Amino acid sequence: MTPGRFPWIGVVFMIDVHIHVVPPNLPGVGPLNPLLEGPTPLLAASLRREMQEAGITQALAMGCCTTGPDDPAGVEGTLRLALDVPGLHAIAVADPSRTDREHLHRVESVLGTRRVLAFKGYLGYLHYAPDHPGYRPYYELAERYRLPFFFHTGDTYSPRAKLKYAHPLLVDDVAVDFPNVRFVMAHVGNPWLMDAAEVVYKNMNVWADVSGLLVGPAESFTGEERQEAIHEVQVNLRKAFVYTERPNRFLYGSDWPLAPMAAYRRFIEGALPVEYHQQVFHDNARVLFRI
Ligand SMILES: [Zn+2]
Repeated sequence: MTPGRFPWIGVVFMIDVHIHVVPPNLPGVGPLNPLLEGPTPLLAASLRREMQEAGITQALAMGCCTTGPDDPAGVEGTLRLALDVPGLHAIAVADPSRTDREHLHRVESVLGTRRVLAFKGYLGYLHYAPDHPGYRPYYELAERYRLPFFFHTGDTYSPRAKLKYAHPLLVDDVAVDFPNVRFVMAHVGNPWLMDAAEVVYKNMNVWADVSGLLVGPAESFTGEERQEAIHEVQVNLRKAFVYTERPNRFLYGSDWPLAPMAAYRRFIEGALPVEYHQQVFHDNARVLFRI
């Protein structure tokens, strides 16, 4: 059987909470993939095909930093594409360097439309810890509009990023201080998976997404010489997952286009106990994002 060409036997409706459809526009980070800078119809077709092959019915896409006043939350590119990609949703950028009243008003006007499902802050890429006062107004918006708040955590793709701002333990601070905000640590804090697991275990308002633990083309998931390294990552993820005792607080994400959707799905399926697949691949995201 050709992988991805037949209906999946496992979870039928899948939600991918972490993909990219626009260049993130962060200091020192490229476009991630030429596809994101190419013609929209090509991107839309490619995304629809990948989603179908992997059995993804809904996907949440990260926004674009440093946009103009007409796109305060960095979601316009995603929302335009969503017209051609059923099931695609937008995540707004929380930029702690922009806390003037005008900017925040403009961001809030976007949230009011219910076209945005979450916020994301770029720890490490932007040199602000979660407890920096610049994030506070965004937490207040997140609480008021009941929007989960993603943080990039762990390794970065930019030589200009500073890792000390991206450690998952920092999320514990704001999880305590903002108990009504639900936080999502992207990439389970990779490589600090156990630290991230402890933050999930201890705080009832913290989730983790399993995206970005392996990146690369399809071959890097299937190559014989890659299997040992892949198995090691799976073991580490499973260990962190089991440690938390919170299967209801893990979310499936692929970080597409950094990894092919179908290959990444199989990789995570191989890492997590099968009895929790339905929760992680669908139910947890449906509840958290109210979709
Ligand atoms: Zn990402």
